Amino acid sequence: MSKVKIVVAGPRGNMGKEAVKMVTTTDEFELVAVVDSKHEGMKLSDLEGFHHIEVPIYTNMQRCFEENKVDVLIDLTAPAFGKNHMEIAFANGVRPVVGTTGFTEEDITELRAKAEEKGIGAIIAPNFAVGAILMMKFSQMAAKYLPDVEIIERHHDRKLDAPSGTALKTAQLISEVREQKQQGHPKETEELDGARGADFEGMRIHSVRLPGLVAHQEVIFGGVGQTLTIRHDSIDRSSFMPGVKLAVDSVLRIDTLIYGLEHIIE
Ligand code: NAP
Repeated sequence: MSKVKIVVAGPRGNMGKEAVKMVTTTDEFELVAVVDSKHEGMKLSDLEGFHHIEVPIYTNMQRCFEENKVDVLIDLTAPAFGKNHMEIAFANGVRPVVGTTGFTEEDITELRAKAEEKGIGAIIAPNFAVGAILMMKFSQMAAKYLPDVEIIERHHDRKLDAPSGTALKTAQLISEVREQKQQGHPKETEELDGARGADFEGMRIHSVRLPGLVAHQEVIFGGVGQTLTIRHDSIDRSSFMPGVKLAVDSVLRIDTLIYGLEHIIE
């Protein structure tokens, strides 16, 4: 069986480095090139930490796809580029697996229509850690019985978007089962702007950004005389790689866009 030919975008980043390691140590995968924000014309092996990996670096994704036969793009770059990178992948018949966050619901609807028009599989997963998917599912179960809920997500201070894609996805899943309600006292006021966090259909999301953190989330439910806390911690970025590998395997077998790893681990 021929190997799955993969391009990683963002190879020097925290997530991209782990993805390069995962792809180059998986027998059925082959890293054919990388797309970086700089180092055009160099080889990945010219950069520190990648000494044995002799693949070309491109800064132009379109040219990368024109010059290499590519099955799957793994995109781990920045919120400003994820959508455009997916469109370039679709135009070249390449299946995107995207961990980059910051997509709106409209982006996802638009990209799904493009994937289906071309008959190309695509996966966007705001969180590739299996434990985080379970946290979201358990939260959805709990919200049916305990509809008062607040989300606290904590990430490293280099993260560009807030709230996190995982927090938004958790809130969306909860809103599918939760009775509509505006939480807190009807007359509550904020003495400092933002003190009560972001409002998602009446529930609150709080974003903490500090050095030393990786990716953490608590979903806190309050009921009469009780609270329930569901918590997940990614303490190392290697926690995301089994999910990325599963997504690469799955994207080859679908012809639409799937948003969220929970739809492929069932
Ligand atoms: P990071 O350490 O800042 O790495 C991003 C890398 O992408 C940097 O090397 C950056 O280069 C490069 N880059 C930026 N724009 C690019 C472009 N247009 N083309 C090619 N490369 C580009 O960030 P990270 O922590 O790895 O996270 C990357 C993305 O994944 C973020 O959106 C983050 O929220 C998301 N994330 C997802 C998961 C998940 O499970 N789905 C988990 C963690 C993080 P420069 O530094 O030169 O700009």
